[in-house]
Amino acid sequence: MVKVLLKFSDKVTDQPITSQVIKEKGVTINILSAHVDQQGGEMLIEIPEDEAEGVIEAFRSKGVKVELRRLIEVNKEKCFDCGGCISLCPVNVITYDAEYSVVFDEEKCLGSTCALCIDACPVRAIELIT
Ligand code: SF4
Ligand code: SF4
Repeated sequence: MVKVLLKFSDKVTDQPITSQVIKEKGVTINILSAHVDQQGGEMLIEIPEDEAEGVIEAFRSKGVKVELRRLIEVNKEKCFDCGGCISLCPVNVITYDAEYSVVFDEEKCLGSTCALCIDACPVRAIELIT
């Protein structure tokens, strides 16, 4: 499965683009996270690898910007393992290891469609990367 980030501008939010692509391509799309309103927004989806090219092209042809998802990066120099971000993460990316050091399973991260941990960190140790 491939994770891709869809960016919807305010010019396309009045159209049912995601359902159109699903119908046209006959593909199963797993929506992992979405923040889209009439002003636009982002949606993180997961699609089968062998269908990815066609699905990405279909979204692009309908005016949706498609990017690789943006993930988080933790600056371990700044992080002091307070754990403040752990309970906020909706998909359990962040946990303590046996030494009570915070570890991040970035593969599960919802990236810029979530970003809850970024504002929560008291020392701004977490950043979005491309
Ligand atoms: S961005 Fe969201 S999903 Fe990713 S680690 Fe932070 S809280 Fe968890
Ligand atoms: S909130 Fe910031 S300092 Fe605390 S564990 Fe998370 S990344 Fe580290």
